[in-house]
Amino acid sequence: MPRFFVTGQPENGLLTLRGEDAHHAGRVLRLRPGEAVTLCDGAGTDYDCTVASVEKETVTCRVQDSHPAVTEPRQQLTLCMALPKGDKMDFIVQKAVELGVHKIIPYVSQNCVSRPDKTEKKVERWRKIALEAAKQCGRGRLPEVCAVVMAEQAMARAAQSETALFFYENERETGLHDVLQHGVGSTVSLVIGPEGGFAPEEAALAAQLGLKSVSLGTRILRCETAPIAALAAVLYAGGNM
Ligand code: SAH
Repeated sequence: MPRFFVTGQPENGLLTLRGEDAHHAGRVLRLRPGEAVTLCDGAGTDYDCTVASVEKETVTCRVQDSHPAVTEPRQQLTLCMALPKGDKMDFIVQKAVELGVHKIIPYVSQNCVSRPDKTEKKVERWRKIALEAAKQCGRGRLPEVCAVVMAEQAMARAAQSETALFFYENERETGLHDVLQHGVGSTVSLVIGPEGGFAPEEAALAAQLGLKSVSLGTRILRCETAPIAALAAVLYAGGNM
């Protein structure tokens, strides 16, 4: 079933596709009146619709039913990701969105090679990647990609979640499994470091803020592998896979 994100609420039982989406629905998919389409408000609600009319610039759809999007995990996962080198963040954003992340907070830490200059353009780019990935995988919620912050701020925000996990490559005692087997909250933050790993002061600050230091096992994963493995494990443990 074709699926599109729309902005705004139905008016008189109608929702309208515009711009690229209207082009895609009307010209590429050649949807015709009466055909079924799912429209999603990007905030967790799906509208089951039928096409009412196809115009040059718009496709109008009649809402038949609405319900919470079935594709959203029950856990709200926030990924705090240290800026990696090059364009690795593109990959991380795409995969995190596919897996079901709620929010991504990119941050700069001591060992980041990537400097925080000109990040506005990068954030714009990641937001586009998030939108495309959300469309492609059928998300019911458009994940937020936040502006780049410093490590202290990212950790402080992570600490507000019911469960805040600090993925530390030097953690030897507590494995992710040890934490997950006792269950996690419905809001979970995952903090991942850069290629260079975390500085000891950052690990100390994380502990001070109440973040739980956890290991992903005895092997060191690359900074683009770690968030994917961590998200997948938390989703699995929460019955969201
Ligand atoms: N250069 C560092 C590794 C950094 S890996 C070193 O050689 O020690 C990048 C990030 O991925 C880490 O900061 C951590 O957040 C995460 N990560 C990778 N492997 C991990 C593991 N085995 N346990 C916990 N976190 C891990």
